[in-house]
Amino acid sequence: MSQGQAGQQGTKGGRPDTDAPLDAIWSPSPNQSARRDGLRPSMVVLHYTAMQGAEAALARLCDPAAEVSAHYLIGRDGRLWQMVPESQRAWHAGAGEWRGQGDINSRSIGIELDNTGGHPFSEPQMAVLEVLLAQILRRWSILPEAVIGHSDMAPGRKCDPGPRFDWARLAGLGLARAVPAVSGSSLQESDAELEDLFCRYARDLGYTAAVDTATLLAAVRLRYRPWAAGPLVAEDLIPLAQSDLWL
Ligand SMILES: [Zn+2]
Repeated sequence: MSQGQAGQQGTKGGRPDTDAPLDAIWSPSPNQSARRDGLRPSMVVLHYTAMQGAEAALARLCDPAAEVSAHYLIGRDGRLWQMVPESQRAWHAGAGEWRGQGDINSRSIGIELDNTGGHPFSEPQMAVLEVLLAQILRRWSILPEAVIGHSDMAPGRKCDPGPRFDWARLAGLGLARAVPAVSGSSLQESDAELEDLFCRYARDLGYTAAVDTATLLAAVRLRYRPWAAGPLVAEDLIPLAQSDLWL
């Protein structure tokens, strides 16, 4: 797909038109293996490369000495590379957990976004990501709730795709979890009770990795309230609500 093309396609039910095949540049990485226990992809993990450019990232993701890879890499200009077939296990997630399950590499498809972490994600890059995600979700019957960031499954250890990533844009297209329309919290709990509720809500959503509350709060805020700072407040629980009626 050439630059900008994705943005010109029509939409189906809010999602980008996924019929047009994406023109990925094939760049096989030796850093792959079979998915364990016959697992199929049931999640997507988004990353940023934290490198200066796509070519440097591609070289690292295909370097046997680096022992890392991903299925896809999307450049700032919208170029798309594929390094590992979706049926195979790419090495992008590492240690971590989501919904009580480890070995995320065997369960997921990994997408790297060319970004240092310090600047916005470009329009051509987001447009290609939307089409790619829509195709992957359809191909493997993956729910939007199972599209997560590296920081969601490895709190404290990883912080990508970072505070500048536009999760709301993906959610609006049904390509990531939509936050319920809860406008405010009526919670008047003590600090200890609030912390207890926060940890429980986060765990129910998938944040099951064993970390302390401060680390968990940082991970949840990265995804849902990147502007927030300071101690836990009732507003931190709002995006964790699983229905409009919760709080
Ligand atoms: Zn990552």
